[in-house]
Amino acid sequence: MLRPALLLRRAAAPAATRVAAPLAPAARYTPARSVRSVSSSTTPKRACPACGAAIPIPASPCPSCAALVAIPQGLSLHSLLDVSEPVPGQPGAEAWDIPAELATLPAHGYDLHARDLRNRMLKRQAALHPDRHNGADLAATLSARVNKAYETLADPLRRSEYILKQYGKDVKEQEGVQDHDLLMEILEARETLEEASDAEEIEEIRDENHAKVVALVKRITAAFSQDPPDVDEAKALTVELKYWIGLENAAREKL
Ligand SMILES: [Zn+2]
Repeated sequence: MLRPALLLRRAAAPAATRVAAPLAPAARYTPARSVRSVSSSTTPKRACPACGAAIPIPASPCPSCAALVAIPQGLSLHSLLDVSEPVPGQPGAEAWDIPAELATLPAHGYDLHARDLRNRMLKRQAALHPDRHNGADLAATLSARVNKAYETLADPLRRSEYILKQYGKDVKEQEGVQDHDLLMEILEARETLEEASDAEEIEEIRDENHAKVVALVKRITAAFSQDPPDVDEAKALTVELKYWIGLENAAREKL
């Protein structure tokens, strides 16, 4: 049975509001118009393998001699994009304390500004470009690492999954929605999409779906903004987000 409310016609939103992967709007960790390095006197440093100068982690190429140097493993995706500084772990624990680092960011690293994040990625990619370095293999490896970090953090679902993982919560496993009404809503939306016969109908479904995604991203931001972050709430919302993004992908394929 289809619930008529799901089929209500409404004005189509302008195309620009239908981007598939909205980021949270606020940017508090940086002014949006400039990309400043987060390096400070507390930035963990290491000796450059090429010139021996103390260089901030994860800088590469070396700011002192411009040699391309390997970047330590186990760093957060946020620090790879220069959004935050790595925090060294306690002796005997992981080398880097990612939860402590995330605690320095708005919404524990969930509340990122799309354009700022992209600018940081582009800045790092420009510095790592293989054409600028003799060690092309290392440049390609580091560039791929930065790219993967960007793809994960720029996507509201993958970003949430990544942050939850830092707190020991895995969303990857097959998990069902617990809320019965919500489950019905999802099943009905799927059915509506399957029965949709023209592009206009599919676009309407995408508009409704997009509104749900935006609302969920807001609620996930709120859950991650708690101190400590409400990871159980964030996880439940992320499971839900997965369904709606899955529906968006299915709708796009049908167009
Ligand atoms: Zn150097």
